[in-house]
Amino acid sequence: MVDLIGQYEKIQSEVDAAVINTIRSSMFINGPEVKSFQAEMEAYLNVKHVIPCANGTDALQIAMMALNLQPGDEVITANFTYVATAEVIALLKLTPVLVDVLPGTFLIDPKAVEAAITPKTKAIVPIHLFGQCADMDAMMDIASRHNLYVIEDNAQAIGADYHWKSGKVQKAGTIGHIGATSFFPSKNLGCYGDGGAIFTNDDAIGKKIRMIANHGQSVQYYHDEIGVNSRLDSIQAAILRIKLRHLDEYAAARRAVADYYDKAFANHPNITTPERTKLSNHVFHQYTMVLKNASRDKLREYLATKEIPAMIYYPVPLHLQKAYRDPRYKEGDFPVTEHLCASVISLPIHTEMQEETLSYITKNVLEYFKK
Ligand SMILES: *Cc1c(COP(=O)(O)O)cnc(C)c1O
Repeated sequence: MVDLIGQYEKIQSEVDAAVINTIRSSMFINGPEVKSFQAEMEAYLNVKHVIPCANGTDALQIAMMALNLQPGDEVITANFTYVATAEVIALLKLTPVLVDVLPGTFLIDPKAVEAAITPKTKAIVPIHLFGQCADMDAMMDIASRHNLYVIEDNAQAIGADYHWKSGKVQKAGTIGHIGATSFFPSKNLGCYGDGGAIFTNDDAIGKKIRMIANHGQSVQYYHDEIGVNSRLDSIQAAILRIKLRHLDEYAAARRAVADYYDKAFANHPNITTPERTKLSNHVFHQYTMVLKNASRDKLREYLATKEIPAMIYYPVPLHLQKAYRDPRYKEGDFPVTEHLCASVISLPIHTEMQEETLSYITKNVLEYFKK
């Protein structure tokens, strides 16, 4: 689905030197590379605080820990997503409240969010799924009317620009009270292992997040909070500093792939290409299509015989996952999410795709439907 080797080869000499220099410095934890990466990320995102941590799931967890939420408090999030978002809510003994998504963009449905609010609601976690932004005008408006926090799950849309209806432009992940992201290798800004970061413009929240990520201490051996141990390795930070300089160019390469697919599959009777929101640009973490009157499994098998990988993000809605079964929810409660889980398929998309590969993939997808 991604070509991490091809991408590495283009920046190999820089990356190799940075890794070796970090090893030679022996500053493996919280070294100067981490501080420089943090500062460069703050400048890139135009956000006051970037707090690096160990992975994207930790980033979400630490964000929620910083908001003083209490067991039983409700946190609203989208049902059609990766498990991490609901997982940390449940782990902290908060109550995940699931809402449906919009059928074209797969993003959290603001009307469903509004309808899910109760006196116990404390926060909303919109996910910028597959690389474009949820309706943050609506999220921030709902949040301010109901006095809620907004945590953006920005694991899939790092670098995307959000266009406020007022005309103001802001980076995804820096709009809500807190943003969380992941540097998992296959993410748009991926390191060569695990990594994550938390963003905020709020000084007090930023201070608290930094403390929680570091065992609840701001002075060594004095613990003011129960925290966690969540750090970004210096080696990963050194790699991310190099890749951050290429992030916009990587996003453009992904968009070019999406444009190619869009064109090849336009008006196809069995394929609905992904709708692009007008509220942000799209950094295409995934290229996800919805199939109509077609067998997804058969298409996938056919593509596999041609050595074309295809993935299902995501096959099971959260409310039907064994671990997240809840008497409040039953099959049929989330028609859009359930339909998408049954009919989406994602094609390879990455920064190193050649025209030849794209033509081979699209030709074979089209061929399958002619059979
Ligand atoms: C990848 C991802 C995460 C978790 O990130 P990890 O670094 O794997 O812990 C959280 N939310 C979404 C939407 C993701 O895609």
